[in-house]
Amino acid sequence: GEKERFNLKDLLREILDTNQPLFSQVKMKARVPSVEIEANKEQWRQILENLLINAVEASREVQRSEVEIEVELLDRDYLIKVRDYGSGIKEDIRSRIFEPFFTTKPTGTGLGLAVVYRIVENLKGEVKLFSKEGEGTLFEIKLPR
Ligand code: ADP
Ligand code: MG
Repeated sequence: GEKERFNLKDLLREILDTNQPLFSQVKMKARVPSVEIEANKEQWRQILENLLINAVEASREVQRSEVEIEVELLDRDYLIKVRDYGSGIKEDIRSRIFEPFFTTKPTGTGLGLAVVYRIVENLKGEVKLFSKEGEGTLFEIKLPR
């Protein structure tokens, strides 16, 4: 992929603007530093956008409709965390959510997480998932700097 210099916080703002009608349904908390990074911006957009959309979609019908996104710059890695307090992911489907076309949504494409996974794999990063039914979900993505 082609790397470029871009500001992380500006990218997040673009994503929030593009998805404003959907995202306005929840309280969005962002801890994303205003720093320039050297990376593939479109890949970063895909990761953040797909995780945020899923987090918001899981949160719309619950009491605590709050979504948090955080990006940390570690010594060797970027650490991306997207957390919601929504439906959670049932244990029995957890192994399938990264498969292309797997969806539990009436009009879902099932492509969001497949795309995220492919990009992270390609960048030699890692995806961690913590989820509890009825309590929410945390996706942690590590990408080498
Ligand atoms: P889609 O959003 O089109 O269904 P995705 O690949 O983005 O496809 O997600 C696949 C499935 O993983 C979703 O249908 C949903 O069941 C589950 N999922 C993903 N993210 C979350 C989340 N934050 N909370 C609950 N379930 C989730
Ligand atoms: Mg999705």
